[in-house]
Amino acid sequence: MPKTWRKHAETMGSEFQLEGKTPLQFVPGIGPNRAPLFEKLGLRRAIDLLFFFPRHYQDIVPWKQVTELEDGVRATVLGRVVDIDWRSTWEGRSIVGVLLALEGGGYLRCVWFNQPFRRDQYPRGARVLATGLVKSTGVAFEIRHPETQLLVDDEEPPAARPLPIYPLTEGLQQRHVAKAVSAVLPLADSVEEALPESIRAQVTPGPLLPITEALRWLHQPNSLEEAERARQRFIFQELFVLQLALAMHRHQVQHALPAPKVQATPQIHARILKRFPFQLTANQLQVIEEIRKDMERDVPMNRLVQGDVGSGKTAVAQYALLNTVANRYQAALMAPTELLARQHYQKLRQQLSDSQVMIELLVGSLTGASRRELLQRIALGTVDIVIGTQALLGEQVDFARLGLLVIDEQHRFGVEQRAALRDSRVTPHYLVMTATPIPRTLAMTAFGDLDVSILRDRPPGQSVVTTYVSDWAHQESWWKFVIEQVHGGRQAFVVAPRVDHVHDDSDSEESQGAIQWYEKLSKGPLSQLRVALVHGRMDGEVKQAQLDAFARGETDVLVSTTVVEVGIDVPNASIMTILEADRMGLAQLHQLRGRVGRGRFPGFVCLFPSAGLGDEEMERLNHFASNHDGFALAEMDLKLRGPGELLGTRQSGLPPLRIADLCRDEAWLIQARTLASRCIAVDPQLRLPEHDLLRRQVVSKHGASLAISDVG
Ligand code: ADP
Ligand code: MG
Repeated sequence: MPKTWRKHAETMGSEFQLEGKTPLQFVPGIGPNRAPLFEKLGLRRAIDLLFFFPRHYQDIVPWKQVTELEDGVRATVLGRVVDIDWRSTWEGRSIVGVLLALEGGGYLRCVWFNQPFRRDQYPRGARVLATGLVKSTGVAFEIRHPETQLLVDDEEPPAARPLPIYPLTEGLQQRHVAKAVSAVLPLADSVEEALPESIRAQVTPGPLLPITEALRWLHQPNSLEEAERARQRFIFQELFVLQLALAMHRHQVQHALPAPKVQATPQIHARILKRFPFQLTANQLQVIEEIRKDMERDVPMNRLVQGDVGSGKTAVAQYALLNTVANRYQAALMAPTELLARQHYQKLRQQLSDSQVMIELLVGSLTGASRRELLQRIALGTVDIVIGTQALLGEQVDFARLGLLVIDEQHRFGVEQRAALRDSRVTPHYLVMTATPIPRTLAMTAFGDLDVSILRDRPPGQSVVTTYVSDWAHQESWWKFVIEQVHGGRQAFVVAPRVDHVHDDSDSEESQGAIQWYEKLSKGPLSQLRVALVHGRMDGEVKQAQLDAFARGETDVLVSTTVVEVGIDVPNASIMTILEADRMGLAQLHQLRGRVGRGRFPGFVCLFPSAGLGDEEMERLNHFASNHDGFALAEMDLKLRGPGELLGTRQSGLPPLRIADLCRDEAWLIQARTLASRCIAVDPQLRLPEHDLLRRQVVSKHGASLAISDVG
């Protein structure tokens, strides 16, 4: 017996009492040898184990002898592996068969299609518990895609009820976890309830289980329904705590420092509208109205404008900027790239050429004395509108009286980053714009602290974009088309999903990166055109120079990675080729497609899928080609690829969720949001005794990232 263990046992003696904070090595059935394995799963104390969620459940139905098996009825059988067979069909499907000699006599075959790894999971002689729908082939019984468990020799087969399947790590088996969980389960009786009964009762389908029952049903359910109800409680709780955090954050921001009241009087309103070279659409006016209402209050506006590429977000932002200036406050607009900042700057300058409004550009390349001078003027308040990149905020630029901050194309800014942006000295109104259509559930989490306005219709006069899904056999004719278009005066993008060639892939032409495509196209099919290359690994200045040259029309074809996804506006570019398009999400493809058809020329996009692409993937691309609704595409992306892919995994700023799933649990999320905002309206700091535990959970899970403090 290791020393520490013996010592503990001695001091505790027979009075040993399991508590939530008891280290796992002292939990009966774990011990010092196995405790490190549990630690690998992130479990250190008894209470962690109590809240260790099963991945799913194997539904053990009453255990059957072979004579009791019936075609088309679910059953659980227990047997030993006596034979394994494996083959591929001519269509390329693989079939793995594992023959079990059942305890009590008879045979049953487990079959898996297209899961070749199954071949190595069931060694000969292994004892397997399998559950599934029994099929009779006439001569024998089989179960296709059964749920299975390996049992050790002397192990009692589990009772006929759902068997929780936990995430494991090497060296740890289900039965080890199950045994340890059984040992800590009595703790469930003393776990404090975080969700007040009134809240549990308001949820549908409800009421939600109280915590003790939920924990018991989570680990030892008598039916799948019980397991599901337990899961629902924890899913709701996770989402509810998150939504409380967002609501608290929002409340704190709104009540910290007042924002300036910025009033668009009818005169100001009319004057601003006259500045636009076009009539605003009804949709633009509606969003402007929402912004107008926000800004005339002294509570800081916190609004996200979502609208497809080309939906006319700039005009909406300009309205807000000009409204701020008309009220004698300063306004700032941040763009994700210097190129985009310059574009905004030039357009706005043009629009305001005959006015007194002072607009300046603050970007990374502005250095030395001119930079210092500009910063001084901003601090003195002689500059009205500052347009720039992140450098603008990164450097704690001092504004004399900042009234509005607009952030353009910042779909990668999550709640956390926004919280970090806040400056205690000023509380300007705040407007974020994004072209990534964000499904509702994502918006409620990643942007859960913001009000959302949506620009759905496009302004008139934009060109249509035709999307084709082609194949490599038709390359030649496509490049000919590109050349014709360029000769007609247009420019073209060629986008590859990666920078460089990938070595471990087969050497087929399709696995080349932007660098290889640039070589190939500039020497081959497009040799008569001026072809340029940009990608993310290039030096920033070189990249910028290439983008600028393309924007000025000095090059015809820009071969790039997805760096052109955000913001680049070259109305003359009307053709885009997307290579290995299946490697990209639909929302991302949609962003790319938005780069063409911006001018008066019709756009043409051609997708080349990777070689040997499956039917489903082709279906996805065809769906994209025929669908232009960014929101619908984003929803589909969320379902197929998950939220990380959609927002950009790292930078998404999505709060981590342990059990809830934004796709599956939309109904719970909506309820959690509604109930959380009601709760915060009544008790903004969660100071009521019945909210005490919720407050502690909010602070411990999201306090740091959302800058929610526990004192207040
Ligand atoms: P995005 O939402 O992608 O930022 P922009 O604001 O750049 O879109 O607008 C796309 C194009 O549509 C621009 O050329 C802009 O001048 C034009 N535009 C915007 N609003 C209108 C309108 N109401 N009528 C006509 N053209 C408009
Ligand atoms: Mg824009």
